[in-house]
Amino acid sequence: MTPPTPAILQVALDAPIDRLFDYLAADATAADIGRRVRVPFGPRRQVGVVVGLAEQAGVAAAQLREVIAIDRTLPALPADILRLARFAADYYQHPLGPTLLALLPPALKRQRFRTPGPAAYALTEAGRARAATLPARATAQRRLAERLAGSAVAATELAGLRPVLTEWLRQGWAAAADLAGPDQPSEAPPPLTAEQAAALAALRGEAHGFAAWLLFGVTGSGKTEVYLRLIGDVLARGGQVLVLLPEIHLTPQMVERFGRRFPGRRLVALHSGLGDGERLAAWLDCIDGRADIVLGTRLAVFTPLPRLALIVVDEEHDASYKQMEGLRYHARDVAVWRARAAGVPVLLGSATPALESWANARRGRYRLLALPKRAHAEAELPQVRLVDSRTDKPKQGITAALRTALAENLACGEQSLVFINRRGYAPVLYCRACGHVSSCPRCAAHQVVHRHRDGYQLRCHHCGLAARPPQACPACGSLDLAPAGQGTQKVEDHLAELFPAARILRVDRDSAARRGAFATMREAIARREVDILVGTQIVAKGHDFPMLTLVGVIGADQALMSTDFRASERLFAQLMQVGGRAGRAAHAGRVLIQTDYPHHPLYAALVTHDYPAFAGRTLDERRQADFPPWSYQALLRADARSMAEAMAFLDAARDLGAGLADGVQIYDPVPALMPRISERERAQLLVQAAGRARLQRFLTPWVAALRERRTATGLRWSIDIDPLDW
Ligand code: ADP
Ligand code: ZN
Ligand code: ZN
Repeated sequence: MTPPTPAILQVALDAPIDRLFDYLAADATAADIGRRVRVPFGPRRQVGVVVGLAEQAGVAAAQLREVIAIDRTLPALPADILRLARFAADYYQHPLGPTLLALLPPALKRQRFRTPGPAAYALTEAGRARAATLPARATAQRRLAERLAGSAVAATELAGLRPVLTEWLRQGWAAAADLAGPDQPSEAPPPLTAEQAAALAALRGEAHGFAAWLLFGVTGSGKTEVYLRLIGDVLARGGQVLVLLPEIHLTPQMVERFGRRFPGRRLVALHSGLGDGERLAAWLDCIDGRADIVLGTRLAVFTPLPRLALIVVDEEHDASYKQMEGLRYHARDVAVWRARAAGVPVLLGSATPALESWANARRGRYRLLALPKRAHAEAELPQVRLVDSRTDKPKQGITAALRTALAENLACGEQSLVFINRRGYAPVLYCRACGHVSSCPRCAAHQVVHRHRDGYQLRCHHCGLAARPPQACPACGSLDLAPAGQGTQKVEDHLAELFPAARILRVDRDSAARRGAFATMREAIARREVDILVGTQIVAKGHDFPMLTLVGVIGADQALMSTDFRASERLFAQLMQVGGRAGRAAHAGRVLIQTDYPHHPLYAALVTHDYPAFAGRTLDERRQADFPPWSYQALLRADARSMAEAMAFLDAARDLGAGLADGVQIYDPVPALMPRISERERAQLLVQAAGRARLQRFLTPWVAALRERRTATGLRWSIDIDPLDW
């Protein structure tokens, strides 16, 4: 008798080569697809994922190496996630191996196939035996659910229960619904406003099957309440819900709110701030179907969810959904693709939708739902006023109008926010004799002045290099050096002089750097221990400060001058959002924007809270210029020790593409907006087409050809599909 021929496994590895690798495995079957394997790779060992079984014929099996181990203790990646990864890899022109490995929790990329933390999930022999004897009746299930909900479940016990649980989930949701245990009292939802009710009715009318919805509603209009109602429906039917948030560690309020509304449900938070063990445990909760609601940042879009029935993307316009390196995906777009593949609805919410999404709604690809008013009957939208800083000249950044408003607010004990999107003390150190400004020796960027201990420090915000400020001007030797312009620290100092009795708190990346610092600050604000907040955009994101009734905006004009065509879209969204912080509950809010351009249409639209007007006009401008969303772009970036090398690579890439470019426009390479970072010269080449499919048809062979080429040593390149930053 001949021994059975071993199977040939196709394995995806974290290698920068766009191909799969074949390995022999004596006992492997199709059930191993999606499992982790440890394999020899060159002189080392690597962890990979099995993505298929190869045909025997044509493969020189004798030359193949054997897998070292297959991990059968953990669930395999399900087929839908393998398909999602393949889609993302293809669309974003990234090799499948690195894509797949990137979506595993970090703990699973390690060589040792043993679950860290509560080693609860490994199947033991004792566990199997035990599971076989457990009665599968509802009472037993409930008891089990109670134990699972408690944290005191012994690891060995849980190991024994796991197969039973999995079996119930397989049998369907009648059993799984029992797992939630008896319903605990939950927070009573408020009666819906007419607009919310209409939106929900529309959503409920098509709750089954794929549909993409855009919920456009001003801050405080009750979008989250609509999500919660819809999620309630889905949970009652036994579905799992995936909720994406831009920055979960900055929005614990959201997690608390979901927890209060659905106290009997298993809520899982997934973000990169978790430790490896926590993250793995959360991920296993998802893949095993135990988690009911997953609240996560962009990476959570790839989480395996066997009962997925709804995806929500909150603040869908937020740029943090776009990953800037490796697999450069946009989580909102991946979410829509995943929802379509899974046949479930996806709900995108924003007060200022991305223009891509707005255009999709206008084209009928997304269905538009609008919540034009604030949900609280008493809560009005804030009053937005433009302060002409050409006539009311700012002193240390602050106009008389803003100073007066701050004084009034202080006098009546209400909170104010001064918003300035520049951290540090001042953007540059300036020589009053010759005009020289401090710049980073390693980057094409200014050095920012920071307050540091008792003195000052010059810091580069691109490479992080810090230096002591010079005594004399390096260009002319003059001693007349001064920080120019405003940063959060300088504004903080100035406000302290203006209002010595006020309690002032600065909230920016520097002050919130320590873990937990942000939560502490948020609590201080909520307890009204702060009168004036000075902050960057991190204050603007999704925080509810009901006592905040005044927002002053300084330095916004700068974005109007930007060469990035998306700068005005970002500015509008940011100002709407920061304005939305003012007066959320029963207190009316005021927003004062200091500007040299009080007649700019962007500001005019802010005054009237008219996103559609802003969007309509900006979309028209983009159409004239053939910019997205009227076209589709990809950006090939290169960096090298010299600009000539970077440009030479891009020139060659353009020539290589010329033959393939059917209906695709390849622009000439140009230096990047930030042409030097950390002593690397940077350049880029833009490719643009009228349609996605056309662009993809060009990109696939072009990027493959680029990968084949040998590049000069020290040259690095990457491709970014639908790039957001330049
Ligand atoms: P958004 O997500 O659009 O910012 P939220 O859902 O957070 O809005 O609602 C804003 C505020 O209004 C919250 O304090 C919320 O509790 C409240 N709210 C939402 N819907 C209603 C409603 N129908 N009646 C009363 N208050 C509501
Ligand atoms: Zn000088
Ligand atoms: Zn630098």
